[in-house]
Amino acid sequence: MPLHIVEHPLVHDALATLRDKRIGPEEFRRTANRISLLLAAEALCDVPTKVGSVETPLGPAPTRLVGADLVVVPVLRAGLGMLDAVLELVPGARVGHIGLQRDEITAIASRYYTKFPPGLAGSHVLIIDPMLATGGSAVEGIRLLRDAGARNILMICIVAAPEGVALVQREFPDVHIFTPVVDRGLNEHKFIVPGLGDFGDRLYGTT
Ligand code: URA
Repeated sequence: MPLHIVEHPLVHDALATLRDKRIGPEEFRRTANRISLLLAAEALCDVPTKVGSVETPLGPAPTRLVGADLVVVPVLRAGLGMLDAVLELVPGARVGHIGLQRDEITAIASRYYTKFPPGLAGSHVLIIDPMLATGGSAVEGIRLLRDAGARNILMICIVAAPEGVALVQREFPDVHIFTPVVDRGLNEHKFIVPGLGDFGDRLYGTT
């Protein structure tokens, strides 16, 4: 089953900080960056490599370089808080964007923006969306990427709810989800409980 629970202690240390309601946007952003680096490294651990060689001052050394076209797709706006970390790891990645607005009453996601790089069929696509809550945005995003030709899709999130995981797995059983935790569930406003609150608001100080 392509649900990967990331157990790394440094991931869980960062998650504890993100959950803490006392921290402000500056620490939240810094910690979101730290956990995203670790999650992306884990999610990309099977990315294909190509072998080569390089000259060190003492002679030739064998190398393995990233051998796949990587495309990172943040789900706006909260996913932007994970983007710099992923680009630090894979500076050559191309970037697509999906803008989905969650209705505050119904929690249904509606799309207001999409822009993907061309030629996704052979790419490894990494969706970054910190909160996998109902799964509505994730499923919509994956569907758009599939329609654009993407086949190999991974997703990283920082907190998941059982409802969101179940929906993604039902609709797209081949999409791998990487998360440190699946929380208890959703409340009546479709927020993850205990979760960490509204990720975008805490990231940008818009609470
Ligand atoms: N989006 C958030 O930012 N938090 C949640 O708990 C659910 C969706």
